[in-house]
Amino acid sequence: MTFAIHGLAVARGIAIGRAVLVASSRVDVAHYFIAPEQVDVEIGRVRQARNAVIDEIRRLQRTIAHMGPKEAPHELAALLDVHLMLLQDEELILGVKHWIADRLYNAEWALTTQLEVIARQFDEMEDEYLRERKADMEQIAEKVLAAMKGLPSPLVVPPVRLPRRPSQQDLLLDDTLDVPLILVAHDLSPSDMLQFKQSVFAGFVTDVGGKTSHTAIVARSMDIPAVVGARLSSHLIRQDDWVVIDGDAGVVIVDPSAIILAEYGFKQRQGEIERGRLTRLLRTPAVTLDGQKIELLANIEMPEDAAAAVNAGAVGVGLFRSEFLFMGRHGKLPDEQEQYLAYRRAIEGMQGLPVTIRTVDIGADKPLDKAPREDAYLNPALGLRAIRWSLADPDMFLTQLRAILRASASGRVNLLVPMLAHASEIRQTLSLLDHARAQLDNRGVPYGDIRVGAMIEIPAAALIVKTFLKYFDFLSIGTNDLIQYTLAIDRADESVAHLYDPLHPAVLRLVAETIAECKRQGKDVCVCGEMAGDTSLTRLLLGLGLRSFSMHPAQILAVKQEVLRSDTNRLRDWAAQVISDEDPAIRLTMA
Ligand code: PEP
Ligand code: MG
Repeated sequence: MTFAIHGLAVARGIAIGRAVLVASSRVDVAHYFIAPEQVDVEIGRVRQARNAVIDEIRRLQRTIAHMGPKEAPHELAALLDVHLMLLQDEELILGVKHWIADRLYNAEWALTTQLEVIARQFDEMEDEYLRERKADMEQIAEKVLAAMKGLPSPLVVPPVRLPRRPSQQDLLLDDTLDVPLILVAHDLSPSDMLQFKQSVFAGFVTDVGGKTSHTAIVARSMDIPAVVGARLSSHLIRQDDWVVIDGDAGVVIVDPSAIILAEYGFKQRQGEIERGRLTRLLRTPAVTLDGQKIELLANIEMPEDAAAAVNAGAVGVGLFRSEFLFMGRHGKLPDEQEQYLAYRRAIEGMQGLPVTIRTVDIGADKPLDKAPREDAYLNPALGLRAIRWSLADPDMFLTQLRAILRASASGRVNLLVPMLAHASEIRQTLSLLDHARAQLDNRGVPYGDIRVGAMIEIPAAALIVKTFLKYFDFLSIGTNDLIQYTLAIDRADESVAHLYDPLHPAVLRLVAETIAECKRQGKDVCVCGEMAGDTSLTRLLLGLGLRSFSMHPAQILAVKQEVLRSDTNRLRDWAAQVISDEDPAIRLTMA
């Protein structure tokens, strides 16, 4: 039966494919396709790992058989019996074989997929005792996965094999192989999303998340259709269901009828044609009708993203979110050399174009690791995040500053500091930067000239822009956080997503005033939040005087198209009216 789930549109386009349900805790399991000749090897890996776990349980059973009830309570023996039974369950074994042999999933992926299928069945059971066996299933999965780690996998770095787009025929015949896969999960952390950058999935759906949550941002940077905040989707969608993701409307259609499939197949092709058309603008300079040169920069998360930035025609990187180098490393942070090499790769990747490296912005919805920190506070977005985290650990911060300074010897580098609010924080940051330079001088290590800038992403900062401009060469407006902190809306919380409003007059005035003050003082200013890549806001930002936009590479050409059609002389007065309106969105849509 066809039904639709509504969520938040985060990454454009239409994806049609089969659902792959992945439990949030399992997303760091490798997902790749194997070659048909590797099927037996992969089935063998699962069998070997399962046998190893069975042997271990049997050994334990023998040991506890000799123990008294105090050392080995009766419940333990019963639990081991259950684990053994589950491991020998036919459905598990046959299911894993099916995913490997028929779908060519790698062993770990096949195992976790089948576990997800069985977990659903447990969820639906009436009997509470049986329902609780789901936890046992998860425990044995952990054990088998751990055992599999020791067994060689047929591929070390799996090649990404993107599935071909299905024809209508495939979809109607319910073909199994080679159709796109749509990842469905309750939640994904930003570092999980990074893993999926190299993956086989053609689209994402999550139950939770806001439009500018970092998970959504990474999905957007991957340029594949995604919907977040689609509550209950991971409960309502079953493994292998056909789904359509409408990334423009924020809708997920499950089990679509032939007519709906045909309609979305058409929309998908239209989207591809439109993208093809935009590529004609690749070499066209971004200049408005009245001759204003507009700088279109790229936001990147990893050095390797520089290639996509260059290919999209970016004239530099306006925001390199360096924290992605720090995440998911189980607390072992990258040292100076590792960071230096990563920054240098990004600089070299940009082929002489400038790169703005933002110092680490850990905290809020970007934890270092998935597990919550013991000292995590109730309000992480207001806690030890970004520059506050850096200043709280000067050695870590100095290491990063030295690495960025050293990398600046290989190209044009701007240093950007996130989430500053106080003049004292500014002075402390700049004094640590001097200290990092002195440390390199003492070691005789060369470094280049860098321009130093600050992000304006807290209303307090926007209100004291003059102070910021005393210290910094340039400013970059982080509208994602500026909106969050101005409106007191958690950007990652889908329950208040309808109130997260880039067009709130208070937000617009802070943005407008920051741009205006920079202009008065002849300093550069950029917007690097998601507003910069939103084509419905391009003319407004141009009218407010913005000349530098930084966004995901995939958005650059669409924004350029808007720029080419705009006349800033005509937009100035209109923009001033929009921001002084009670309800700017209405005037904007009427324009
Ligand atoms: C922002 O806040 O607008 C920004 C660009 O930084 P981030 O999204 O990484 O918080
Ligand atoms: Mg921010």
